[in-house]
Amino acid sequence: MRKVEDIFIEMIKIDSESGSEKRFVNYLKDEFGKLGLECIKDIASIEKTGSDAPNLIVKLKGQKTDKTCIGFSAHVDTVVPGKDIKPILDGDVIKSSGNTILGSDDKSGIAAILHAAMRIKEENIPSRDAMFIFTTSEEVGLLGAKHLDTSLIEGLENMIVLDSGGPFGEIITSAPSQNSIKMKVKGKAAHAGLEPEKGLNAIFAVSKGIANTKIGRIDDETTSNIGTIRGGKATNIVPDLVEFEGEVRSRDDNKLKKVTEEMISSIQKEVKECGCEFEYEVIPEYKAYNIPNDHELVKEIINVGKKMGVDIKTGSTGGGSDTNIHCENGINAVNMSTGMMNVHTTSEHIHIEDLKKTSEFIFNILTN
Ligand SMILES: [Zn+2]
Repeated sequence: MRKVEDIFIEMIKIDSESGSEKRFVNYLKDEFGKLGLECIKDIASIEKTGSDAPNLIVKLKGQKTDKTCIGFSAHVDTVVPGKDIKPILDGDVIKSSGNTILGSDDKSGIAAILHAAMRIKEENIPSRDAMFIFTTSEEVGLLGAKHLDTSLIEGLENMIVLDSGGPFGEIITSAPSQNSIKMKVKGKAAHAGLEPEKGLNAIFAVSKGIANTKIGRIDDETTSNIGTIRGGKATNIVPDLVEFEGEVRSRDDNKLKKVTEEMISSIQKEVKECGCEFEYEVIPEYKAYNIPNDHELVKEIINVGKKMGVDIKTGSTGGGSDTNIHCENGINAVNMSTGMMNVHTTSEHIHIEDLKKTSEFIFNILTN
């Protein structure tokens, strides 16, 4: 029986930055295929995500009929710099060599799933039915999950997403909705030295608009941000165009709507007073979810944790994940921590102990 940490190290050595995930998805299809599990490529997703690989759905047919089918989900892509990862073993900790991320986000979850499935197959242990959903391009807008052909996972009611950081033993049962807001301010160009009075300065108008807006933490479940801004060509030209983007997140959809509208109207007001034109577009990215603590899925996770001697805690987050999309698709999903630390940085690392616990947990959910 292979060790989960060896499987993990093998996985992170296969590059899979968002969009270039083909080799890794093929590897997974081979590995699960070798165990005799049914592997289905969600070919239709490729065109919509722009990735070179499809989502992969793996089905475990179990013998136990007293439990419903359970889903586990993890994403196959990594952020940059994620090429040529050289893992370093430091005691119980696996880290990168410092030039790249490690890829425990999200291969810690994937390695644990594969390891648990291997154990079930190799030791011939009866399990319940399960589906493993491996999504592409999560890091660039949850694209694989958004474009997943849900007919391939029909009948699935409960799912555990393995894509949360921090020590093993926390499940995120509540996460916000997010609106992205694309904004454009049009002024009028003029020579800044010869006849500035003929111009309308779009940068000045946007600055006044943003200064008039509340950003950052709005309350305990609501945040807003202006994240990008582009405009202007040269110091001797009155700038006629600024494009900028912001976002609002809230676990309360009424607040999401209110804060989004406030951001737009407060910027619009100042921009108009400067005589410039204002255009905007609100793009709903994903919806909030909230799985109550007395839900059967949460109770089962806590019980399995107890048997392992782990005190599972529920919590909320300000971030979005595939979990939001799965919930939008009518599945009860929570996001579980695998022990990955400092993700999206070159100091990303994970304890082998947490990889083992994650695999043990999956095994227990599947076979208990
Ligand atoms: Zn992730």
